[in-house]
Amino acid sequence: MGTVTALRPKEENRYPGIAEAPRFSCALGGAYMATLATFGAVPILHSGAGCGMSQNFGQNFAAGLNGAGPQGNTSTPCSCLVEEHAVFGGEDKLRALIQSTTELVRGDLFAVVSGCVPALIGDDVGAVVKEFREKVPILHVNTAGFVGNSYKGYEQYLDAVIDQLLTPQTVVRKRVNLLGVVPYQHIFWKGNLQVLKDLLAAVGVEANMIFTEPDGLEALRRIPSAELNLVFSPWSGVPAARKLKEKFGTPFAVIPSVPVGPKDTSQFLQFLARRLQLRRSRVEAYIAKEEARTYRFAEYMADIAMMALPNAYTAVVADTGTAIGLTRYGSNELGWLPEIVIVTDDPPEESREEIVRSLTEGLESAVKPEVHFEIDAHKIRLLLREHTVQLVLASSLEKYLAVDELDAMQLSVAFPAYDRLIVDRTYAGYRGGLALMEDIAYKYGGPL
Ligand code: SF4
Repeated sequence: MGTVTALRPKEENRYPGIAEAPRFSCALGGAYMATLATFGAVPILHSGAGCGMSQNFGQNFAAGLNGAGPQGNTSTPCSCLVEEHAVFGGEDKLRALIQSTTELVRGDLFAVVSGCVPALIGDDVGAVVKEFREKVPILHVNTAGFVGNSYKGYEQYLDAVIDQLLTPQTVVRKRVNLLGVVPYQHIFWKGNLQVLKDLLAAVGVEANMIFTEPDGLEALRRIPSAELNLVFSPWSGVPAARKLKEKFGTPFAVIPSVPVGPKDTSQFLQFLARRLQLRRSRVEAYIAKEEARTYRFAEYMADIAMMALPNAYTAVVADTGTAIGLTRYGSNELGWLPEIVIVTDDPPEESREEIVRSLTEGLESAVKPEVHFEIDAHKIRLLLREHTVQLVLASSLEKYLAVDELDAMQLSVAFPAYDRLIVDRTYAGYRGGLALMEDIAYKYGGPL
C-alpha cells in the first residue's frame, strides 16, 4: 500500500487564525482615533514608529478619505521604540517625550496610548504618566495591538477616561451622552453624532456628543452629569455604559442603530419622550413637522426609485449599526428586499442573537435576510456570490466584486471606504434616508 495522505482540509480550516483584509485596525488604532476625535486632546504614542503611521491609511483614510486632524499623522508625538528599548526598556524615552510634548504642543488633554512593544517588554507606562498628573491633564490608555481590534481600543479609551478623569457630578435633567458611535470605524460618525444632537435639541434634550464637541476635555468631564446614556449599538459602547452605571449610577438605554429615515427616527424620539418624560405635545409636533417635510421631499425621488430600482434585492455588508439602520430603512420605507446581511465588525458572541433579531424582526418586506458574521474579505466574497442581488451596500472592498461578479450596483457605506470623501455626510435622522437615495440613485438615474 502506498503512502496515504490526509484529505486536503477545507479551505476555511487551513489558516484558522488568519483573516484577509479585516475591516478594522488594532486596539491602539481605535484608542488613537478616539483621542483624535476628542477636540483639544493630544495623543502621545508609546510604540514603534510604524504604529501611528499605519493608522493613517488603515484608519482615518479608510474612513472616507479623511485626514487625521491637527494632532494626527506626522504631527503625533511618538516614542518610536527600536531594538535598544526592547532590551533596556522605553520608560526614559517616554518620560522625555511627555516632558517635551507638554512643553511644545498646545493641548487641553494629553493621552498616552501604549502599543505592543511596551506591553511585551513590560514598561511601567502608568507609573511614568503618573509623574505628570500634577502638571497637566493626562491619561494613559493601557492598550496593545494584540488585545483586540479598533472597537476594543475605543472601549479602552473610554475606560481610561472613566477611571482616570471623571469625578461624580450633579445630574443635569435632560442631558444625555451619546455612546457607541466609534470614530472613523463608523464612517459617518461625525454626521451621525451631529444629527443626533440636533434631533435631541429639537425636543428639549441636551446631547453631549463627546467626540467633535468644541471643548473635548469639558465634554469628557461632563459625562457623569448626564441623566441617561444612549448607546447606539447593540454592543459597542455597552461596556462603557455599564461602567458609568456602576461608578456614577447613570442608567443607559441601548438603541440597536443610529436611526435612518422617518419611521425609526420618530420611534426613537417617542421612546425618548417616554424615558425622559418629555412634553409629549412638543415631541409629537416636531415629529409631525419633520415627517411631513421628509415624505413630501421623498416625492422628488419616488419616480426614479420606482422606475429604475423597484423592490431591489439587496446585500448589506457593514458594521452592526450601519447594517441594522440601512436594512430597516430599505425594507420598511423603500420596499427593498434584504437578501443577505454580512456583519463585519466581529461583535461578541453574546450579542449576536440580539443582532440577528434586529436584522430579521420588524421588517415589512416579504424577504428576511440571511445573516452572517464574517470579517474575512475572501469569505465575504464567496458568501455574496451565492446570491442574486441588484444593490450592494458595503465597503469599497466590494466595489469591483459587485459590478464584475454580481452585476449589481454598489455604494460604499461602511469601513473601509476608500472611494468617497465623507466629511459631514450622514444617513441618520429624517433626512438621512433621502441622502442615501441621492447617493444611490445617481448611479442608475440616467443614461448619460
Ligand atoms: S498591532 Fe501592535 S505593532 Fe501593530 S500597529 Fe498595532 S500596536 Fe503597533
